[in-house]
Amino acid sequence: MVKLKIDNIEVEAPAGTSILEAARQIKVDIPTLCKHPDVDPSAGCGLCIVKVNGRILRSCCTPIAENMEIITSDPELVSVRKTVLELILSNHPNTCLTCIRSGNCELQDIVQDFGIREAKLPNITKVKDIDDSTKAIVLDPAKCITCGRCVEVCQSQQNVWALSFLNRGIDTQIAGAGGIKLAESPCIKCGQCSAHCPTGAIVEYDEDRAVWEMINDPELHVVVQIAPAVRVALGEDFGYEFGTNVTGKIYSALRKLGFDKVFDTNFGADLTIMEEATEFVSRFTKAPETLPLVTSCCPAWVDLLEKYHHDMIPYFSSCKSPQSMVGTMAKTYYAQKAGIDPSKIRVVSIMPCTAKKWEIVRSEEMRASGFQDVDVSLTTRELSRMIKQSGISFRELEEEAADNPLGEYTGAGTIFGTTGGVMTAALRTAYFFVTGQELQDINFKAIEGLEGIKEAEVDVAGHKVRIAVAHGTGNVETVLQRVREAKAKGEETPYHFIEVMACRGGCVAGGGQPRALLPNQPKPRGITDEIRRIRGGALLAEDAGKDHRRSHQNESIKKLYADFLGEPASHKSHELLHTHYVERKAYNRGVE
Ligand code: SF4
Ligand code: SF4
Ligand code: SF4
Repeated sequence: MVKLKIDNIEVEAPAGTSILEAARQIKVDIPTLCKHPDVDPSAGCGLCIVKVNGRILRSCCTPIAENMEIITSDPELVSVRKTVLELILSNHPNTCLTCIRSGNCELQDIVQDFGIREAKLPNITKVKDIDDSTKAIVLDPAKCITCGRCVEVCQSQQNVWALSFLNRGIDTQIAGAGGIKLAESPCIKCGQCSAHCPTGAIVEYDEDRAVWEMINDPELHVVVQIAPAVRVALGEDFGYEFGTNVTGKIYSALRKLGFDKVFDTNFGADLTIMEEATEFVSRFTKAPETLPLVTSCCPAWVDLLEKYHHDMIPYFSSCKSPQSMVGTMAKTYYAQKAGIDPSKIRVVSIMPCTAKKWEIVRSEEMRASGFQDVDVSLTTRELSRMIKQSGISFRELEEEAADNPLGEYTGAGTIFGTTGGVMTAALRTAYFFVTGQELQDINFKAIEGLEGIKEAEVDVAGHKVRIAVAHGTGNVETVLQRVREAKAKGEETPYHFIEVMACRGGCVAGGGQPRALLPNQPKPRGITDEIRRIRGGALLAEDAGKDHRRSHQNESIKKLYADFLGEPASHKSHELLHTHYVERKAYNRGVE
């Protein structure tokens, strides 16, 4: 431990801690635009300067030392920081009024905090091409302040290497690695770059206009579904504490927006578990050489697999994601039950994820009913804006229930939104399918939490089932490598079942989630481990409070099988609820 003084307060912190982090221990938030808890310091923006025994140094990359005396703010430091901001603004478009990040932009916040009321330097911003080629995220290099967060998160957390800086000096700009369009790059559309960007330089592909047009078309019957993780995040945009579960208010808001029916993706999660647990039990008991079974509900992970892990395709679960399952059931089962022509039904999904926008057009099988399963996939942030556009007083809304037949869900369905949740839900039902008995201890503590790779051994009727959970695609490679090495040596697979979510913490921290900043809540905007824990914990709490916590206990699912699908893994289920994977072209990630 190192002892020092920050603003005359005695502080003790482990050796190696940066001054910036040590100051946060005593609730001093040194301004910064490039340092985020998820990424290593880049010393990119120059705002976090402090005085160390009289010398001005950047606090993000200066480790603490014994007896340091640090001043974090005085008139000289404020003046230098203002100059840094004026330089940034001289190379930044003056378009706050029409910018998608206005109102939750870290640059805008900090310029306001420093009371900068005029641009002192001439503006030299150049017009640069906007890259919306992925139709999932949009990159506007003109709004980039070259903080480097996106490059770092894409490389170190996601291990994708889709982004890089081009050029030098004043011409430096962010782009698809090597200057190519993102759609031609290794990008898996996870949106983690947009979740970490402090400005409007990388954002979601905005599609609310298409949804308004559908709602306004009297010929159409527009249904909507919300993903598990949306319910514990949207409230932040309306002033609720992080992790507040606002499911009932979201249903109510969606009806007020004009949707004809409000369904829930959690129903689809329960349905996914029915199919996936069946698939697992079948492989485990009849064809162990086809193990491990790898979960497939995360589209960014599917994208990575199809590009870079072709040898793993046989192990992938053939189940479509909960989003697609609700979509296809809306256009078949629901259409039939309600007597509506499926060509007149439109399905909108509200997802915490930008990659879901790609998933809905991933393959022809996303149209297995003859119609596209999901027509538009919006992020949580886009729904938040639609609610604000409508003048709906979200906090005043009465809580409402979802519509049947695709609205009921169990606790197992809701935990799909957090790391470890899909595996937990699948094991609860797999146990029932194997034994006919209910699993008594249904929480798997070993696979909760934010450890990047979590492993456990579970007893299912005397069989040892070895499981692994990986989140953040950077961690996936390690798990897959262990499988490859064992298979190459002719050994038994180290895992029977693997859950993968591309984003650290799972969907609760997806690339389309809100970036609220509330009083007494952690900075910066966007996603940190503290927020991951809070949102994930809220889903686990909802599960714990449910009467039914196992997917096979969902009454609407039982009825769906009885009236329409037959049984899990039936011919009809396979036709509508399952998919195949293809080998896609893999671009050089800079790591091979
Ligand atoms: S990125 Fe921020 S500062 Fe820049 S135009 Fe958008 S809101 Fe304004
Ligand atoms: S969406 Fe994901 S993979 Fe694509 S550039 Fe951003 S962080 Fe990288
Ligand atoms: S795009 Fe955003 S996160 Fe990436 S370097 Fe620019 S400002 Fe930073």
